[in-house]
Amino acid sequence: MLSFVHQALPTRVIFGAGTLARLPDELRRLGLSRALVLSTPQQADSAQALVSDLGELAAGSFTGAVMHTPVDVTEAAMAVVGALKADCVVAVGGGSTTGLGKAIALRTNLPQIVVPTTYAGSEMTDILGETKAGVKTTQRSPAIQPEVVLYDVDLTLGLPPALSATSGMNAIAHAVEALYAVDGGPMVSLMAESAIAAFAKSLPAILADPGDRVAREQALYGAWLCGTCLGMVSMALHHKLCHTLGGTFDLPHAETHTIVLPHATAYNACAAPEAMARIARALEAPDAARGLYDLAGRLGAPRSLKALGMPEAGIDKAADLAVANPYRNPRPIEREAIRALIAHAWAGDPPEAT
Ligand code: NAD
Repeated sequence: MLSFVHQALPTRVIFGAGTLARLPDELRRLGLSRALVLSTPQQADSAQALVSDLGELAAGSFTGAVMHTPVDVTEAAMAVVGALKADCVVAVGGGSTTGLGKAIALRTNLPQIVVPTTYAGSEMTDILGETKAGVKTTQRSPAIQPEVVLYDVDLTLGLPPALSATSGMNAIAHAVEALYAVDGGPMVSLMAESAIAAFAKSLPAILADPGDRVAREQALYGAWLCGTCLGMVSMALHHKLCHTLGGTFDLPHAETHTIVLPHATAYNACAAPEAMARIARALEAPDAARGLYDLAGRLGAPRSLKALGMPEAGIDKAADLAVANPYRNPRPIEREAIRALIAHAWAGDPPEAT
């Protein structure tokens, strides 16, 4: 029997090309007039240009966002929020910049407008992972959910191909876990399958021609769907493994997702046959886990944790941490099978049931 709970997300979404031009109207619609524009140091030029385009609607910028939302960076940004009397934040960038905006909103309740320039999907979730003294903790709260997301395809045209590939695989991971989440449902599954199909077609095209606007549009559409899925469900084994590995060995976020995803999928295959059928169909591959591994290979993305610099001696530690406080998962978490999974991901082997 069909039985589910569906909770729609409150975020307003504007999608298209050239949509950044609609930012002033969005600020005025919300009665805001002192926007603090956020970015990473690498995207500081874009942030400065936006401050100048916004004119009197902008209070200034903070361009120090970095990966994993360190609390000391948030505190530095909070001082700027106070000094400039900002009445909202506008985050322009990938998940790192979005994370900083969320951390500020959690502390101040200021409204957030996010302008994503990667496919990470954080803009559609109420999830925030923060790092303090090298330890990353994740929380969910309605205060973290952005009010408005402006998806502008034009801003993704310059995302480097390698980053496009891993960022897209990171997004696909949200859809994969949504398909077997305990709190998924029919609408989430429709979005997740469409999202995987959108990326399976668009990512190879982007690698061939990074300026392919149709492919860029499909990928950003897929990112919206994937982020929406993640915002509606609980995370499972794959996200737990990536949080553990990334935090313990300081591994890059999107690359770690790319490498682990085929193996986490193989681990859950026997416990989630309907999800596997949808993933395989979306990838147009005979097998879900192998299809994901092959897609990463076609994109030239890294496929081994060893290549990211994780020491082989860390496999046991990672397995111990991954089985401690596990996220809810369709297949029970078994230490030896998880160790074998991590060993395969470390070596870059094709995925297999462990
Ligand atoms: P990122 O935001 O760190 O971006 C990577 C680099 O690419 C940065 O230097 C950035 O400035 C640059 N960049 C971004 N867009 C660009 C563009 N269009 N052109 C050129 N350069 C560009 O990487 P990410 O993978 O998007 O985000 C990773 C972070 O997001 C991690 O901290 C992760 O934990 C978090 N995340 C959170 C959620 C959530 O729901 N809370 C979901 C996914 C990721």
